[in-house]
Amino acid sequence: MAPLELDAAIVSSLVNIRYLTGFSGSNALLLVTHTEATLLTDPRYTIQAKAETAETGIKAVIAKGSLEEALTPRLSKLRRIGFENNRVSYRTWEHLQRNLPLNAGLRPLGGVIEQRRMVKSAGEIAAIRESVRINSQAFAAALTRFRAGMSETDFAAEIEHQMRLLGAEKPSFDTIVAFRERSALPHASPGCTRLDGNGLLLVDMGTFRGGYASDMTRCIHLGKPGAKTRSLYRAVLEAQLAGLDAVAPGASAEDIDSATRRVLRKHGLAKAFIHSAGHGLGLEIHEAPRLGRGEKTILRAGMAITVEPGAYIEGAGGVRIEDTVLVTANGVEVLTPTSKELVIL
Ligand code: ZN
Ligand code: ZN
Repeated sequence: MAPLELDAAIVSSLVNIRYLTGFSGSNALLLVTHTEATLLTDPRYTIQAKAETAETGIKAVIAKGSLEEALTPRLSKLRRIGFENNRVSYRTWEHLQRNLPLNAGLRPLGGVIEQRRMVKSAGEIAAIRESVRINSQAFAAALTRFRAGMSETDFAAEIEHQMRLLGAEKPSFDTIVAFRERSALPHASPGCTRLDGNGLLLVDMGTFRGGYASDMTRCIHLGKPGAKTRSLYRAVLEAQLAGLDAVAPGASAEDIDSATRRVLRKHGLAKAFIHSAGHGLGLEIHEAPRLGRGEKTILRAGMAITVEPGAYIEGAGGVRIEDTVLVTANGVEVLTPTSKELVIL
């Protein structure tokens, strides 16, 4: 808070509260001053808050009514109070503004906590490794249970079932299973389409384990792929490998995006790549930095990111290949162990 010249900061984003305190409940506010941190939550979390904050020594206060009301009297001696302007609702902001002590003011914190979260600690990296391992195992287990005629939803359910059996808390996002022309929708939700006959099948999946996310996309082909599909797959794979190659401390986030885009342009697929090349991940599936055009963030050792170029052709289908990787002191460590050969079933 010192460089921001703040007396205190109010943290209201649950994921940032979890990052700072270890508390993982669904209702909380955190007040941080120069001398102490106070976690406010409600009676449902009495036992959990005490247990989860035991390590950090943060004081957990159980509020009977609204957390904002419990917070107000604690602000009385503070002047410059930071708040998460990109996370707080208008209603909460109004309440805070109305109840501030005289001469006190709210100052936007921006994304300072999100910036800190980009570089992972050893413990966080261990959790991400475990999450990635479980995710890849779940994919392998689900493949052995694949049956022609299953629907996209059936296969997504099989994948998520395997995740849980292997120790995941839950999927880190709604699993994407998209067949044939539906694979051209980068965020397709699985539907009743039968996985039968010949065609490209895109699977994008991730788990949460120990609170930390993993993320992987692989493509499967039912039956023998045609020449067009094979060359589309090879182009995206070449782009993904170029993206991985570009990952190093000192590179900028947009460098990774341009490395993948350059390859796809060479294959005439520039217009088919309609999203950015990847994203940070950790306590959230999408966090800073975004690996996209104009993103100047400099990569540093300890950042966990995805590299996931894709090419989508309306009416035909799409290919995306995605790994979870770690920026290391020397370059990159690809955490995802799953092979990138096109799986033929
Ligand atoms: Zn993904
Ligand atoms: Zn992703």
